[in-house]
Amino acid sequence: MHSGLPYWIIKNRLYDYYNPLKDDVTADVAVIGSGITGALAAHELCKAGFDCCVLDKRSIATGSSAASTALLQYEIDLPLHKLAGKIGEDKAVTAYRSCLDSITELGKILEEASVQADFVRRPSIFYASDSKGEEIIAKEYEIRTRHGLPAELVSREALREKYGLHTFSGALCNCEAAEVDAYKAATGLLDYDMRHNGLRVYTHTEISDCIQDECGCILTDMDGHTVKCRYVVVAAGFEAGQFLPEKVMKLTSTYALVSHPVDERLLWPGRALIWETAEPYVYMRTTKENRIIMGGEDDGFYDPKRRDRRLARKVRTLEKKFCDLFPDIPFTAEMAWCGTFSSTDDGLPFIGPWKEGDRVFYDLGYGGNGITFSVIGAQMISRTLSGHQDSRYGIFGFGRLWDD
Ligand SMILES: Cc1cc2nc3c(=O)[nH]c(=O)nc-3n(C[C@H](O)[C@H](O)[C@H](O)COP(=O)(O)OP(=O)(O)OC[C@H]3O[C@@H](n4cnc5c(N)ncnc54)[C@H](O)[C@@H]3O)c2cc1C
Repeated sequence: MHSGLPYWIIKNRLYDYYNPLKDDVTADVAVIGSGITGALAAHELCKAGFDCCVLDKRSIATGSSAASTALLQYEIDLPLHKLAGKIGEDKAVTAYRSCLDSITELGKILEEASVQADFVRRPSIFYASDSKGEEIIAKEYEIRTRHGLPAELVSREALREKYGLHTFSGALCNCEAAEVDAYKAATGLLDYDMRHNGLRVYTHTEISDCIQDECGCILTDMDGHTVKCRYVVVAAGFEAGQFLPEKVMKLTSTYALVSHPVDERLLWPGRALIWETAEPYVYMRTTKENRIIMGGEDDGFYDPKRRDRRLARKVRTLEKKFCDLFPDIPFTAEMAWCGTFSSTDDGLPFIGPWKEGDRVFYDLGYGGNGITFSVIGAQMISRTLSGHQDSRYGIFGFGRLWDD
Protein backbone atom coordinates (compact mmCIF):
# COMPACT_ATOMS: atom_id res chain seq x y z
CA MET A 1 0.00 0.00 0.00
CA HIS A 2 2.80 2.36 0.98
CA SER A 3 6.32 1.82 2.27
CA GLY A 4 9.03 3.76 3.96
CA LEU A 5 7.25 5.23 7.00
CA PRO A 6 5.12 8.22 5.95
CA TYR A 7 5.94 11.39 7.85
CA TRP A 8 2.46 11.78 9.37
CA ILE A 9 2.51 8.51 11.29
CA ILE A 10 5.87 9.38 12.83
CA LYS A 11 4.90 12.96 13.57
CA ASN A 12 1.52 12.09 15.12
CA ARG A 13 2.35 8.55 16.26
CA LEU A 14 0.13 5.59 15.50
CA TYR A 15 -3.44 6.05 16.76
CA ASP A 16 -3.68 3.34 19.42
CA TYR A 17 -6.98 1.62 18.89
CA TYR A 18 -7.59 -2.09 18.46
CA ASN A 19 -11.14 -3.36 18.21
CA PRO A 20 -11.73 -6.28 15.84
CA LEU A 21 -15.31 -7.35 15.18
CA LYS A 22 -16.12 -10.21 17.59
CA ASP A 23 -19.89 -10.67 17.08
CA ASP A 24 -22.58 -10.25 14.46
CA VAL A 25 -23.77 -6.63 14.55
CA THR A 26 -26.33 -4.39 12.85
CA ALA A 27 -26.20 -0.75 11.72
CA ASP A 28 -28.05 1.64 9.44
CA VAL A 29 -24.89 2.18 7.39
CA ALA A 30 -21.60 0.25 7.37
CA VAL A 31 -18.57 2.05 5.94
CA ILE A 32 -15.68 -0.06 4.65
CA GLY A 33 -12.43 1.89 5.17
CA SER A 34 -11.26 4.27 7.90
CA GLY A 35 -9.14 6.62 5.77
CA ILE A 36 -10.08 10.24 5.16
CA THR A 37 -12.90 9.15 2.80
CA GLY A 38 -14.49 6.71 5.25
CA ALA A 39 -14.01 9.12 8.17
CA LEU A 40 -15.72 11.98 6.32
CA ALA A 41 -18.54 9.74 5.07
CA ALA A 42 -19.16 8.34 8.57
CA HIS A 43 -19.06 11.88 9.99
CA GLU A 44 -21.65 13.25 7.56
CA LEU A 45 -23.86 10.18 8.04
CA CYS A 46 -23.66 10.41 11.84
CA LYS A 47 -24.54 14.11 11.59
CA ALA A 48 -27.58 13.17 9.51
CA GLY A 49 -28.71 10.81 12.29
CA PHE A 50 -27.68 7.41 10.88
CA ASP A 51 -26.42 4.66 13.19
CA CYS A 52 -23.03 3.90 11.60
CA CYS A 53 -20.09 1.61 11.92
CA VAL A 54 -16.71 1.76 10.17
CA LEU A 55 -14.68 -1.38 9.42
CA ASP A 56 -11.02 -1.48 8.48
CA LYS A 57 -8.61 -4.34 8.01
CA ARG A 58 -5.73 -2.23 9.37
CA SER A 59 -5.19 0.33 12.14
CA ILE A 60 -7.25 3.49 11.70
CA ALA A 61 -6.31 5.59 8.65
CA THR A 62 -3.05 3.81 7.91
CA GLY A 63 -3.82 3.36 4.20
CA SER A 64 -3.15 6.05 1.57
CA SER A 65 -4.42 8.75 3.91
CA ALA A 66 -1.33 8.33 6.09
CA ALA A 67 0.94 8.64 3.04
CA SER A 68 -0.82 11.62 1.51
CA THR A 69 1.01 14.90 1.03
CA ALA A 70 -2.44 16.48 1.46
CA LEU A 71 -2.39 19.54 -0.77
CA LEU A 72 -5.95 20.73 -1.30
CA GLN A 73 -6.50 22.40 -4.65
CA TYR A 74 -9.62 23.06 -6.66
CA GLU A 75 -7.87 21.93 -9.85
CA ILE A 76 -8.14 18.25 -10.69
CA ASP A 77 -5.51 16.22 -12.59
CA LEU A 78 -7.09 16.99 -15.95
CA PRO A 79 -6.98 20.73 -16.79
CA LEU A 80 -10.43 22.29 -17.12
CA HIS A 81 -10.16 22.92 -20.86
CA LYS A 82 -9.29 19.25 -21.45
CA LEU A 83 -12.01 17.98 -19.11
CA ALA A 84 -14.50 20.26 -20.90
CA GLY A 85 -13.51 18.61 -24.20
CA LYS A 86 -14.16 15.18 -22.65
CA ILE A 87 -17.40 15.66 -20.71
CA GLY A 88 -18.73 19.05 -21.83
CA GLU A 89 -18.05 22.51 -20.45
CA ASP A 90 -20.99 22.70 -18.02
CA LYS A 91 -20.19 19.43 -16.31
CA ALA A 92 -16.47 20.18 -16.19
CA VAL A 93 -17.07 23.58 -14.58
CA THR A 94 -19.45 22.00 -12.04
CA ALA A 95 -16.74 19.45 -11.16
CA TYR A 96 -14.17 22.21 -10.66
CA ARG A 97 -16.61 24.34 -8.67
CA SER A 98 -17.46 21.38 -6.41
CA CYS A 99 -13.76 20.93 -5.66
CA LEU A 100 -13.41 24.65 -4.94
CA ASP A 101 -16.31 24.53 -2.46
CA SER A 102 -15.06 21.31 -0.87
CA ILE A 103 -11.91 23.03 0.45
CA THR A 104 -14.00 25.53 2.41
CA GLU A 105 -16.34 22.70 3.47
CA LEU A 106 -13.46 20.65 4.87
CA GLY A 107 -12.24 23.64 6.89
CA LYS A 108 -15.75 24.03 8.34
CA ILE A 109 -16.17 20.31 9.11
CA LEU A 110 -12.87 20.21 11.01
CA GLU A 111 -13.61 23.43 12.87
CA GLU A 112 -17.13 22.34 13.90
CA ALA A 113 -15.75 19.08 15.28
CA SER A 114 -12.77 20.90 16.89
CA VAL A 115 -10.37 18.60 15.03
CA GLN A 116 -6.92 20.23 14.93
CA ALA A 117 -5.60 18.83 11.66
CA ASP A 118 -3.34 21.74 10.69
CA PHE A 119 -5.78 22.92 8.01
CA VAL A 120 -4.36 26.20 6.65
CA ARG A 121 -5.49 28.21 3.60
CA ARG A 122 -2.66 28.75 1.09
CA PRO A 123 -2.16 30.31 -2.33
CA SER A 124 -1.49 27.93 -5.23
CA ILE A 125 1.09 28.33 -8.00
CA PHE A 126 0.67 26.20 -11.13
CA TYR A 127 3.75 26.97 -13.23
CA ALA A 128 4.45 26.19 -16.89
CA SER A 129 7.19 23.55 -17.10
CA ASP A 130 7.90 24.16 -20.79
CA SER A 131 6.41 25.74 -23.92
CA LYS A 132 3.62 23.15 -24.00
CA GLY A 133 2.89 24.18 -20.42
CA GLU A 134 2.66 27.83 -21.49
CA GLU A 135 -0.17 26.85 -23.83
CA ILE A 136 -1.94 24.95 -21.05
CA ILE A 137 -1.67 27.96 -18.73
CA ALA A 138 -3.07 30.29 -21.41
CA LYS A 139 -6.01 27.99 -22.19
CA GLU A 140 -6.73 27.42 -18.52
CA TYR A 141 -6.68 31.14 -17.78
CA GLU A 142 -9.15 31.79 -20.57
CA ILE A 143 -11.70 29.12 -19.60
CA ARG A 144 -11.42 29.63 -15.85
CA THR A 145 -11.86 33.40 -15.94
CA ARG A 146 -14.76 33.02 -18.38
CA HIS A 147 -16.52 30.88 -15.74
CA GLY A 148 -15.58 33.06 -12.78
CA LEU A 149 -13.17 30.51 -11.32
CA PRO A 150 -10.26 32.06 -9.43
CA ALA A 151 -7.18 32.45 -11.67
CA GLU A 152 -4.46 35.04 -12.01
CA LEU A 153 -1.54 35.08 -14.44
CA VAL A 154 1.86 35.72 -12.83
CA SER A 155 4.96 36.30 -14.95
CA ARG A 156 8.23 34.41 -14.67
CA GLU A 157 9.90 37.60 -13.42
CA ALA A 158 7.28 38.13 -10.72
CA LEU A 159 7.66 34.51 -9.55
CA ARG A 160 11.38 35.08 -9.22
CA GLU A 161 11.10 38.43 -7.46
CA LYS A 162 8.21 37.64 -5.15
CA TYR A 163 8.86 33.97 -4.31
CA GLY A 164 12.49 33.32 -5.33
CA LEU A 165 11.02 30.65 -7.63
CA HIS A 166 13.05 30.01 -10.79
CA THR A 167 10.75 28.66 -13.49
CA PHE A 168 10.84 28.25 -17.25
CA SER A 169 7.92 30.62 -17.67
CA GLY A 170 4.92 32.13 -15.83
CA ALA A 171 2.22 30.54 -13.71
CA LEU A 172 -1.48 30.45 -13.01
CA CYS A 173 -2.15 31.36 -9.38
CA ASN A 174 -5.09 31.56 -6.98
CA CYS A 175 -5.60 32.07 -3.27
CA GLU A 176 -8.13 29.27 -2.70
CA ALA A 177 -5.94 26.27 -1.86
CA ALA A 178 -5.17 24.76 1.54
CA GLU A 179 -3.00 22.18 3.23
CA VAL A 180 -3.99 19.67 5.90
CA ASP A 181 -2.71 16.66 7.81
CA ALA A 182 -5.03 13.98 6.37
CA TYR A 183 -4.04 11.37 8.96
CA LYS A 184 -4.86 13.73 11.83
CA ALA A 185 -8.09 14.76 10.11
CA ALA A 186 -9.28 11.15 9.66
CA THR A 187 -8.31 9.93 13.14
CA GLY A 188 -9.67 13.14 14.70
CA LEU A 189 -13.06 12.88 12.98
CA LEU A 190 -13.47 9.19 13.83
CA ASP A 191 -12.53 9.90 17.42
CA TYR A 192 -15.06 12.76 17.55
CA ASP A 193 -17.89 10.60 16.20
CA MET A 194 -17.07 7.69 18.51
CA ARG A 195 -17.30 10.09 21.46
CA HIS A 196 -20.28 12.18 20.35
CA ASN A 197 -22.35 10.25 17.83
CA GLY A 198 -22.23 6.60 18.83
CA LEU A 199 -20.02 5.64 15.88
CA ARG A 200 -18.56 2.14 16.20
CA VAL A 201 -15.16 1.53 14.61
CA TYR A 202 -13.95 -2.04 14.08
CA THR A 203 -10.28 -2.25 13.15
CA HIS A 204 -8.26 -5.26 12.01
CA THR A 205 -11.47 -6.56 10.45
CA GLU A 206 -11.18 -7.49 6.81
CA ILE A 207 -14.43 -7.58 4.88
CA SER A 208 -14.36 -10.44 2.42
CA ASP A 209 -17.93 -10.46 1.17
CA CYS A 210 -20.68 -7.93 0.53
CA ILE A 211 -24.14 -8.98 -0.62
CA GLN A 212 -27.24 -6.89 -1.07
CA ASP A 213 -30.95 -7.38 -1.80
CA GLU A 214 -33.91 -4.99 -1.88
CA CYS A 215 -34.10 -4.93 1.97
CA GLY A 216 -30.46 -4.38 2.92
CA CYS A 217 -26.88 -5.63 2.84
CA ILE A 218 -24.78 -8.20 4.68
CA LEU A 219 -21.03 -7.81 5.07
CA THR A 220 -18.96 -10.79 6.17
CA ASP A 221 -15.46 -10.59 7.60
CA MET A 222 -12.64 -13.13 7.29
CA ASP A 223 -13.71 -14.80 10.57
CA GLY A 224 -17.31 -15.18 9.44
CA HIS A 225 -18.81 -12.37 11.57
CA THR A 226 -21.51 -10.37 9.83
CA VAL A 227 -22.73 -6.79 9.72
CA LYS A 228 -26.40 -6.44 8.69
CA CYS A 229 -27.20 -2.95 7.50
CA ARG A 230 -29.51 -0.93 5.27
CA TYR A 231 -26.67 0.56 3.22
CA VAL A 232 -22.94 0.07 2.65
CA VAL A 233 -20.41 2.76 1.75
CA VAL A 234 -17.28 1.37 0.12
CA ALA A 235 -14.43 3.74 1.03
CA ALA A 236 -11.68 1.17 0.58
CA GLY A 237 -9.43 3.40 -1.55
CA PHE A 238 -7.47 1.70 -4.29
CA GLU A 239 -8.28 -1.70 -2.76
CA ALA A 240 -11.98 -1.23 -3.55
CA GLY A 241 -11.58 -3.43 -6.65
CA GLN A 242 -12.74 -6.53 -4.78
CA PHE A 243 -16.15 -4.89 -4.21
CA LEU A 244 -16.55 -3.60 -7.78
CA PRO A 245 -18.14 -5.54 -10.64
CA GLU A 246 -15.47 -4.15 -13.00
CA LYS A 247 -12.10 -2.47 -12.77
CA VAL A 248 -12.56 1.31 -13.05
CA MET A 249 -9.18 2.71 -11.97
CA LYS A 250 -5.55 2.58 -13.00
CA LEU A 251 -2.96 1.93 -10.27
CA THR A 252 0.36 3.75 -10.39
CA SER A 253 3.27 4.42 -8.02
CA THR A 254 4.16 7.74 -6.47
CA TYR A 255 6.98 9.08 -4.27
CA ALA A 256 7.19 11.72 -1.55
CA LEU A 257 9.74 13.16 0.82
CA VAL A 258 9.98 15.61 3.69
CA SER A 259 12.98 17.89 4.20
CA HIS A 260 14.91 18.93 7.27
CA PRO A 261 13.24 21.94 8.93
CA VAL A 262 14.21 25.15 7.13
CA ASP A 263 14.75 28.57 8.69
CA GLU A 264 11.27 30.12 8.41
CA ARG A 265 12.69 33.36 6.98
CA LEU A 266 14.04 31.44 3.98
CA LEU A 267 10.73 29.85 2.97
CA TRP A 268 8.80 31.43 0.09
CA PRO A 269 6.21 34.10 1.06
CA GLY A 270 2.70 32.82 1.72
CA ARG A 271 4.01 29.24 1.62
CA ALA A 272 2.03 28.66 -1.57
CA LEU A 273 1.40 25.13 -2.79
CA ILE A 274 3.46 24.72 -5.95
CA TRP A 275 2.96 22.33 -8.86
CA GLU A 276 3.58 22.26 -12.59
CA THR A 277 2.10 21.47 -15.99
CA ALA A 278 4.43 18.55 -16.84
CA GLU A 279 3.09 15.01 -16.55
CA PRO A 280 3.87 13.44 -14.19
CA TYR A 281 4.19 16.64 -12.18
CA VAL A 282 6.19 17.47 -9.09
CA TYR A 283 4.57 19.41 -6.29
CA MET A 284 5.50 20.88 -2.93
CA ARG A 285 4.15 22.45 0.22
CA THR A 286 5.46 23.35 3.64
CA THR A 287 4.48 21.99 7.06
CA LYS A 288 3.73 23.66 10.37
CA GLU A 289 7.24 22.63 11.49
CA ASN A 290 8.84 24.56 8.56
CA ARG A 291 9.66 21.44 6.62
CA ILE A 292 9.12 21.13 2.89
CA ILE A 293 7.13 18.21 1.55
CA MET A 294 7.71 17.33 -2.05
CA GLY A 295 6.25 14.60 -4.20
CA GLY A 296 5.69 13.32 -7.70
CA GLU A 297 7.98 11.47 -10.12
CA ASP A 298 5.11 8.99 -10.56
CA ASP A 299 5.61 5.73 -12.41
CA GLY A 300 2.85 4.21 -14.50
CA PHE A 301 3.02 0.74 -12.91
CA TYR A 302 1.76 -1.00 -9.78
CA ASP A 303 4.50 -3.25 -8.44
CA PRO A 304 5.35 -2.38 -4.83
CA LYS A 305 8.74 -4.18 -4.90
CA ARG A 306 9.89 -2.45 -8.08
CA ARG A 307 8.50 0.86 -6.76
CA ASP A 308 10.44 0.54 -3.49
CA ARG A 309 13.70 -0.17 -5.31
CA ARG A 310 13.34 3.15 -7.13
CA LEU A 311 12.83 5.30 -4.05
CA ALA A 312 16.47 6.38 -3.48
CA ARG A 313 16.81 7.48 -7.12
CA LYS A 314 13.49 9.32 -7.00
CA VAL A 315 14.60 11.21 -3.89
CA ARG A 316 17.74 12.40 -5.67
CA THR A 317 15.67 13.57 -8.65
CA LEU A 318 13.21 15.43 -6.44
CA GLU A 319 16.04 17.08 -4.48
CA LYS A 320 17.65 18.24 -7.70
CA LYS A 321 14.36 19.64 -8.99
CA PHE A 322 13.86 21.55 -5.77
CA CYS A 323 17.35 23.07 -5.93
CA ASP A 324 16.74 24.16 -9.55
CA LEU A 325 13.48 25.83 -8.57
CA PHE A 326 14.70 27.39 -5.32
CA PRO A 327 18.49 27.78 -5.53
CA ASP A 328 18.47 29.98 -2.41
CA ILE A 329 16.72 27.57 -0.04
CA PRO A 330 18.87 24.89 1.65
CA PHE A 331 17.16 21.56 1.09
CA THR A 332 17.99 18.08 2.37
CA ALA A 333 15.54 15.19 2.44
CA GLU A 334 15.03 13.80 5.94
CA MET A 335 12.74 10.88 5.09
CA ALA A 336 10.93 9.53 2.07
CA TRP A 337 8.16 7.10 1.27
CA CYS A 338 6.34 5.63 -1.72
CA GLY A 339 2.67 4.93 -2.23
CA THR A 340 0.17 3.46 -4.62
CA PHE A 341 -1.96 5.96 -6.41
CA SER A 342 -5.22 5.38 -8.26
CA SER A 343 -6.46 7.45 -11.14
CA THR A 344 -9.32 7.46 -13.63
CA ASP A 345 -9.33 8.38 -17.32
CA ASP A 346 -11.13 11.68 -16.76
CA GLY A 347 -9.47 12.51 -13.43
CA LEU A 348 -12.84 12.34 -11.67
CA PRO A 349 -13.87 10.16 -8.73
CA PHE A 350 -16.50 7.43 -8.73
CA ILE A 351 -19.25 8.29 -6.27
CA GLY A 352 -22.59 6.50 -5.95
CA PRO A 353 -24.22 3.11 -6.53
CA TRP A 354 -23.08 0.91 -9.42
CA LYS A 355 -26.63 0.97 -10.73
CA GLU A 356 -29.67 2.93 -9.65
CA GLY A 357 -31.45 1.46 -6.65
CA ASP A 358 -28.41 -0.41 -5.31
CA ARG A 359 -27.75 -0.20 -1.58
CA VAL A 360 -23.98 -0.26 -1.94
CA PHE A 361 -22.55 3.23 -2.47
CA TYR A 362 -18.99 3.62 -3.68
CA ASP A 363 -16.97 6.57 -2.44
CA LEU A 364 -13.80 6.40 -4.49
CA GLY A 365 -11.91 9.68 -4.57
CA TYR A 366 -9.29 8.66 -7.09
CA GLY A 367 -6.71 11.09 -8.49
CA GLY A 368 -4.30 13.75 -7.27
CA ASN A 369 -7.16 15.56 -5.54
CA GLY A 370 -8.49 12.58 -3.70
CA ILE A 371 -9.18 14.47 -0.49
CA THR A 372 -11.41 17.12 -2.05
CA PHE A 373 -13.30 14.25 -3.70
CA SER A 374 -13.66 12.60 -0.27
CA VAL A 375 -15.49 15.70 0.98
CA ILE A 376 -17.77 15.75 -2.08
CA GLY A 377 -18.51 12.01 -1.79
CA ALA A 378 -19.35 12.21 1.90
CA GLN A 379 -21.82 15.03 1.33
CA MET A 380 -23.43 13.51 -1.78
CA ILE A 381 -23.96 10.10 -0.16
CA SER A 382 -25.25 11.51 3.11
CA ARG A 383 -27.73 13.73 1.26
CA THR A 384 -28.91 10.86 -0.92
CA LEU A 385 -29.47 8.48 1.98
CA SER A 386 -31.38 11.31 3.71
CA GLY A 387 -33.75 11.42 0.73
CA HIS A 388 -32.38 14.39 -1.24
CA GLN A 389 -31.40 14.57 -4.90
CA ASP A 390 -27.89 15.44 -6.14
CA SER A 391 -27.49 16.09 -9.85
CA ARG A 392 -23.71 15.57 -9.62
CA TYR A 393 -24.13 11.77 -9.96
CA GLY A 394 -24.33 12.61 -13.66
CA ILE A 395 -20.70 13.79 -13.39
CA PHE A 396 -19.18 11.60 -10.68
CA GLY A 397 -21.36 8.47 -10.96
CA PHE A 398 -20.71 5.19 -12.79
CA GLY A 399 -23.24 6.10 -15.50
CA ARG A 400 -20.45 7.85 -17.39
CA LEU A 401 -18.83 4.47 -18.04
CA TRP A 402 -21.75 3.33 -20.15
CA ASP A 403 -22.40 6.81 -21.67
CA ASP A 404 -18.93 6.73 -23.32
C1 LIG B 1 2.09 9.81 -1.72
C2 LIG B 1 0.68 10.29 -1.93
C3 LIG B 1 0.45 11.65 -2.06
C4 LIG B 1 -0.84 12.14 -2.21
N1 LIG B 1 -1.04 13.49 -2.26
C5 LIG B 1 -2.29 13.98 -2.31
C6 LIG B 1 -2.51 15.39 -2.24
O1 LIG B 1 -1.57 16.17 -2.18
N2 LIG B 1 -3.80 15.83 -2.24
C7 LIG B 1 -4.87 14.97 -2.30
O2 LIG B 1 -6.02 15.43 -2.29
N3 LIG B 1 -4.68 13.63 -2.40
C8 LIG B 1 -3.43 13.14 -2.39
N4 LIG B 1 -3.23 11.79 -2.44
C9 LIG B 1 -4.40 10.93 -2.58
C10 LIG B 1 -5.11 10.83 -1.24
O3 LIG B 1 -4.17 10.57 -0.23
C11 LIG B 1 -6.12 9.72 -1.31
O4 LIG B 1 -7.08 10.06 -2.27
C12 LIG B 1 -6.85 9.54 0.01
O5 LIG B 1 -5.97 9.42 1.10
C13 LIG B 1 -7.68 8.28 -0.10
O6 LIG B 1 -8.34 8.11 1.11
P1 LIG B 1 -9.27 6.85 1.29
O7 LIG B 1 -9.83 6.95 2.64
O8 LIG B 1 -10.20 6.75 0.13
O9 LIG B 1 -8.27 5.62 1.13
P2 LIG B 1 -7.30 4.99 2.23
O10 LIG B 1 -6.69 6.02 3.10
O11 LIG B 1 -6.38 4.08 1.49
O12 LIG B 1 -8.29 4.16 3.13
C14 LIG B 1 -8.91 2.97 2.66
C15 LIG B 1 -9.00 2.04 3.83
O13 LIG B 1 -9.77 0.91 3.45
C16 LIG B 1 -9.25 -0.21 4.13
N5 LIG B 1 -9.66 -1.42 3.42
C17 LIG B 1 -9.38 -1.76 2.14
N6 LIG B 1 -9.95 -2.95 1.84
C18 LIG B 1 -10.60 -3.36 2.95
C19 LIG B 1 -11.37 -4.52 3.28
N7 LIG B 1 -11.58 -5.51 2.39
N8 LIG B 1 -11.88 -4.63 4.53
C20 LIG B 1 -11.67 -3.65 5.45
N9 LIG B 1 -10.94 -2.55 5.19
C21 LIG B 1 -10.42 -2.40 3.96
C22 LIG B 1 -7.75 0.00 4.10
O14 LIG B 1 -7.10 -0.71 5.13
C23 LIG B 1 -7.64 1.51 4.28
O15 LIG B 1 -7.39 1.91 5.61
C24 LIG B 1 -1.94 11.25 -2.28
C25 LIG B 1 -1.71 9.87 -2.17
C26 LIG B 1 -0.43 9.39 -1.99
C27 LIG B 1 -0.21 7.90 -1.84
